[in-house]
Amino acid sequence: MSIVALRNITKAYGSRPPALRDVTLEIQPGVTGLLGPNGAGKSTLIQCVLGLLPDFEGDVSVLGLDARRQRREVRRRVGFMPESDTYLYEMTGIRAVRLLGQLTGMPRSEALRRAHEMLHHVGLGEAVYRDVKEYSTGMRQRFKLAQALVHDPEVVFLDEPLAGLDPQARDELLKLIRDLAVDHGKHVIWSSHILPDVQKVADSVVVLHHGRFHGTFRLEDLAQRTGVFHVEAEGELEKFEQALIASDVAVLGVDEVERRETVDGTLADDRRGWTVEVPEGQGPSRLFHIAADTGVRVRKLNQVAEDLEDVFLRILGEAAVEGAAEGAAEGAD
Ligand code: ADP
Repeated sequence: MSIVALRNITKAYGSRPPALRDVTLEIQPGVTGLLGPNGAGKSTLIQCVLGLLPDFEGDVSVLGLDARRQRREVRRRVGFMPESDTYLYEMTGIRAVRLLGQLTGMPRSEALRRAHEMLHHVGLGEAVYRDVKEYSTGMRQRFKLAQALVHDPEVVFLDEPLAGLDPQARDELLKLIRDLAVDHGKHVIWSSHILPDVQKVADSVVVLHHGRFHGTFRLEDLAQRTGVFHVEAEGELEKFEQALIASDVAVLGVDEVERRETVDGTLADDRRGWTVEVPEGQGPSRLFHIAADTGVRVRKLNQVAEDLEDVFLRILGEAAVEGAAEGAAEGAD
């Protein structure tokens, strides 16, 4: 069963373009990165799921519960670590976490016991009686995590949890997040605009851009994409390029033309390189065939080890091009 299911979610703030546009997606158990640049709609999506934004179109369920009609039950079974600081400043850490426990329906004594346990768990055992306003940024992020976990939820939403942290604080929090999933069996949905952060822990990523859903990708599948090559050729460069574009090979990048002199000072044929992706299941022979058909000589062919960040940026790049085309079409209507 999916942990979260969204069906045709649209949310606009006032008359601005919608922050979410007809989003339909499912999030599976495990750790999921909710990935997209700032303004993509990640926080809005989380708030819809948590029932914090009642006025949106579409249906949302979390753990099989209706996010609108079963908000109390959702709150009991789901934890949330918001991006911004949301606590009462004049409170000690222990009181603030206990209060959150009570707000999710826990009896006071149980909430107090769990608040101690969670603050210890996140490494704030020594600071439980200090005012939250005295905490450093790193301590505050861990404190917010304790708040999110106090009622032992099954699903935890983390909104940009590593934002503003120094490397050591990031590593500490990253370890805590990993432990949540590995040692405590929690389902984690983690919003971020930085793939390498999420990549360290997540099983899959859900990509949002300009309020639209652009697919769910398993990280191990992305890591195994090996169909990207850099091919350099001499001869009928234009013809070769046209043939590549017309084929099922995706052209990801085009280098400058290289004009070279031979040893006797005469001009050699121009050379140019292309970064291309051949369809799954096809190897570099696809490129040799196109070269042979168009009369170019392949001078170099390397497999490109595409890193995940590149894959992600490309997905977003494609999304941006699609979005621009749609925008132009809407404008023309
Ligand atoms: P992300 O979390 O991916 O950065 P958000 O969901 O915060 O994206 O924002 C999506 C879009 O909605 C942005 O254009 C943002 O300016 C707008 N937005 C978010 N919250 C509000 C709000 N309370 N009022 C008006 N616009 C908002």
